Amino acid sequence: MTVGFTPVDDDLYREIILDHYRNPRRRGEVQPADGALEADNPLCGDEIHLTWRLDGEGRAEVAFTGRGCSISQAAASMLCEGCNGRSREEAVSLARRYREMLVADGDAGELGDLEALQGVRAYPVRVKCATLACNAILRALDTAREGDAA
Ligand code: ZN
Repeated sequence: MTVGFTPVDDDLYREIILDHYRNPRRRGEVQPADGALEADNPLCGDEIHLTWRLDGEGRAEVAFTGRGCSISQAAASMLCEGCNGRSREEAVSLARRYREMLVADGDAGELGDLEALQGVRAYPVRVKCATLACNAILRALDTAREGDAA
């Protein structure tokens, strides 16, 4: 087993993470896309390429490609799966609550597979791996973000 680098003690949670890592959901590119962006975490060598669009009913379509550690890629898979098909507001809410789970102690509510990553909170360096895709999705979809007056 080459899973020693996955800093999650719980066996079930680790299996969920490794399943997303090995069989990523929403891997690829949205075409045509409303936008695309690159994000990287040089501390670990993680890279994410995110593409997205909003369909005629305002639902988000998101997809990613990338490479890096199991935490970064599994988080991207879980987040893209969780946000895909939701309204922009719901997708932003999910990403924000997921980030809250990792950086704060509050109750983040129902997060599905993303809850498997809660153990990463104990490893501050790896939190950057776990939030890489999350921050990219928020940059893409969160029009209320700080510094964006539009
Ligand atoms: Zn990483």
